[in-house]
Amino acid sequence: MRPRPAGTRVIIMRACDTRRHRHRLHGLRRRLRAVLHRMVQEEALADPIGFAEDVGELCDAAAAVQTQEDAVLRRQCILDEIHEVEAALERIQRGTYGRCERCGGPIGQSRMRAVPFTRFCLGCEQELERPGVSERIVEAAG
Ligand SMILES: [Zn+2]
Repeated sequence: MRPRPAGTRVIIMRACDTRRHRHRLHGLRRRLRAVLHRMVQEEALADPIGFAEDVGELCDAAAAVQTQEDAVLRRQCILDEIHEVEAALERIQRGTYGRCERCGGPIGQSRMRAVPFTRFCLGCEQELERPGVSERIVEAAG
């Protein structure tokens, strides 16, 4: 057998698995968008944060600011997730879905089932999560 030339596409996922993942990703994106939509509506309905009238209310105001910051963080988190789902759908189209973006190896079916939009195999993910390693491979790739 001849060695496989560099760049040859390796089948990392069967077509039926890819279809199933694509279906899941579409469903996930729909749900995330619905959650986001609901959050934006709820925030629009929420009372704006007023100024504390006396010192005793400062704590309430601080709590309200905290709640608002939490909401912003949650919304950002959902936006990030939608972005990841869309990136995964693009990888399906390019035929690289299921391949680790760091080491190039297969990500593995059980991990793909657990996190259908993951970019990395478990080993790489764990390494990337160590402080100081990760930063922005994601941005470099995008
Ligand atoms: Zn890897």
